[in-house]
Amino acid sequence: MSTISIRAAVYLRVSLDRNMDGLAIDRQRDDCLKIARDRGWQVIEEYVDQSKSATDKTKKRPAYDRMVADYEAGNFEAIICWDLDRLTRQPRQLEDWIDAAKDRGLKLVTANGEADLTTDGGRMYARVKAAVAVGEVERKAVRQSRAQLQRAQQGRAPKGTRPLGYATSGEVIAHEAQVVAEMFRLFAISNGTPIAAIASALSGKAGAEAPRSIPHLPKFSRTLMIERNERRMAEGLDPKPVPPDGPWTSSTVLGILRNPRYAGYSVYTNRSDRSDKNKRRNWYAQIIRDEDGQPIRGQWDPLVDELTWLTVQERLNDQTRITNRTGSTARKHLGSSLYLCGICDRPITAHSRGYRCSEGGHVTRSRPHIDEFVLQLIRERLARPDLQDVLPVRDEPRLLAIQAEIRERQGRIKRAQHDYDEEITEAHDFRRIRDRQNAAIADLEAERLRLSVGNDLGGVLGASEPVKAFDDADLAVKRRVIDFFCTVRLLPAPRGRKGFDPSTVAVAPK
Ligand SMILES: [Zn+2]
Repeated sequence: MSTISIRAAVYLRVSLDRNMDGLAIDRQRDDCLKIARDRGWQVIEEYVDQSKSATDKTKKRPAYDRMVADYEAGNFEAIICWDLDRLTRQPRQLEDWIDAAKDRGLKLVTANGEADLTTDGGRMYARVKAAVAVGEVERKAVRQSRAQLQRAQQGRAPKGTRPLGYATSGEVIAHEAQVVAEMFRLFAISNGTPIAAIASALSGKAGAEAPRSIPHLPKFSRTLMIERNERRMAEGLDPKPVPPDGPWTSSTVLGILRNPRYAGYSVYTNRSDRSDKNKRRNWYAQIIRDEDGQPIRGQWDPLVDELTWLTVQERLNDQTRITNRTGSTARKHLGSSLYLCGICDRPITAHSRGYRCSEGGHVTRSRPHIDEFVLQLIRERLARPDLQDVLPVRDEPRLLAIQAEIRERQGRIKRAQHDYDEEITEAHDFRRIRDRQNAAIADLEAERLRLSVGNDLGGVLGASEPVKAFDDADLAVKRRVIDFFCTVRLLPAPRGRKGFDPSTVAVAPK
């Protein structure tokens, strides 16, 4: 037997705001130390956080952070905590620990015996537990914003920051409202004005593309702060610094074009939705619906008609999809944000010489072999005689049917959310329905993209020599062609192996 014992950290956390079931810190400590004794581990340090929520990312847990740093520094090989709730309830942090357990041999055990991240079963248990914890937080958030939800259901203007064009009370501010309406009109018309050009016009820049019908307005954050200061001074408070006037950003313009309130829809933002990666879908999800799934109208005057608003959303959806997944002109590498991490399914980013999963750190690969491998697969696909069969055609009736079905499914999610909010159903029922509908919606959106993508593939598919056309195409077109045919997932390269192994690039046809 080795005389060198495993060095362990003990992590303890007490939250004062919850019923601890008599689980005082001493008891946590005793249980953890017993584990160490039983396993013959040497406890090198105890990390104790007091009264810090494990779910709120903004709350600081100094001992936890110190422990992470000490682990990175190689101070110990094992962590003992009383249960996973004490350690973390954030799935992402948990995934980091699971990675450490899998890749670097970290031993993570809980004193209540529920999870041992050194085993498959323990890892699965940990993931399930983290998912449930997230569900509890979502549920709590729903309760806390019940009053806001009620306001929205009554069609009253939401509290908080006013949008451009409306006063906090919901009254229309005429000169701003005109600008909002004109922004929607310009963007909705076919070959409409680019968002950046609208932002330029608002910023007072007379660029070639900037539409003349949009006047210069002071930056909205500046206007809001000036108004806020007027209220503060009326209450006898000191004014806050006013941000200087500066250019409007595209994302501000995008936020305006996405806002359902302008079409008269009553809106409500579920706190747990805000951090959702898929913001685009959330703009629809913000629209409050009645029992039949019909949008509830706000008690304010719409600035644009529904059809214009919906048209703008469709145009934005197409743009978002293309920019997110295949990039417009900014991408320098074939696979940035297009390939996915084979472990967590999140988009891969490019760094100096390779691709990596920057969110989870699961995959770090060098670039050239992977890109050449993918390009070669696409060339082989383009050389096949059945290429004509996949040529996209614009099928209007089907596009309309897809649109209707997406709406219908969004309505179902809304009704499920409603049942959940009313405590008619449980969280797992709601999640099951939501996930199933979202999966179906994603498929429909993919189909819609395929039906409408024809022109975006740079004529490669219809070319007389598709392979040559592909090789001659610019990077953005190549990326769209790849995206059209397949999903590329990168798996971690096996350790200690030289050379490129094609089995580490998983290509799934679409
Ligand atoms: Zn990953």
